[in-house]
Amino acid sequence: MDAIAAAQVLSEIGYLLRQDPDEKFRAKAFSAAAWSLAIERPDLESLHSRNELTSLEGVGAGIAKVIAEVLETGHSRYLERLREQMKQPARDDESVLDFSKYKGDVHSHSTWSDGKSTMLDMARGAEAMGYTYLGVTDHSPRIKVVNGLDADRLLAQSREMAEVQAQVPGVALLQGIEVDILEDGSLDLPDMVLELLDVVIASPHMKLRQEPAAMTERMLRAVSHPLVDVIGHPTGRRPGSREGANYDFEAVFKEAARNHVALEIDCDPARMDLSPEMARFALELGCNFSLDADAHAPAEFAYVPMGMWMARRAGIPMDRILNFLPLDELTDALS
Ligand SMILES: [Zn+2]
Ligand SMILES: [Zn+2]
Repeated sequence: MDAIAAAQVLSEIGYLLRQDPDEKFRAKAFSAAAWSLAIERPDLESLHSRNELTSLEGVGAGIAKVIAEVLETGHSRYLERLREQMKQPARDDESVLDFSKYKGDVHSHSTWSDGKSTMLDMARGAEAMGYTYLGVTDHSPRIKVVNGLDADRLLAQSREMAEVQAQVPGVALLQGIEVDILEDGSLDLPDMVLELLDVVIASPHMKLRQEPAAMTERMLRAVSHPLVDVIGHPTGRRPGSREGANYDFEAVFKEAARNHVALEIDCDPARMDLSPEMARFALELGCNFSLDADAHAPAEFAYVPMGMWMARRAGIPMDRILNFLPLDELTDALS
């Protein structure tokens, strides 16, 4: 068992604990330990043989015990118990996903909006992950608190992107936007701007608690927009702290499938949106997926290797996930 597989076990435990507000701190501890394993990728077998698992950042005695059991048996009884409690038992139709075949993340932020790192640092971070492409998708203007980008700033950003691309030639930078889905389902930037971009992620951020009928109309309009490639964190929920949007998921997911608009699995541990059950439902309705970190700093790229258990548990095969496509096929899929 390697560090990434162990990170996914800890991440799933963190996710399940997070559903219970009383377990918030324990949930965060498991997510933090998962993140540290996904970043550092230590040789767990050798640490375990020397009884040194607790030397890892964020790994105390309790979490070390879970890792040790996983190393020895391939299973965590604690995880299995939580799955039973949450009525999400293991299934025999889960998929096999190999992170070494993951080609790049299409949803990330930089200091152009609310990211904590420059585009250059993000590009270098993607290179360190071994990615061959990176979608730089800062926010659109409506989100004022994060200094969202209008057409003028997107143009300025494209100039910086050309410079960064020259410095980090191994990672193809895709200029994109995370465009807000407005209350009526229209998008926060005009089509003539969106059509210049390589990747358009449309996300609901505000007014998530609209009436289901209005929310359904809003989401249907977004997935029917011909320039939208991906719906970012489709419900906007934050397990344990914020309920997500409620709408006719079947109608919206069917329309997304029909229009080849992918649904995102956002691997930020605070989001993990969709959910394994909803992702499985979307898969059955014919949807494709995008598996992203929504990184706001280079270290957050590691959210994907820790969070990809959700796609696996949902039974999503690699060929239904955009990020496993090589660049030329991704570009086709996004055009
Ligand atoms: Zn977002
Ligand atoms: Zn984002």
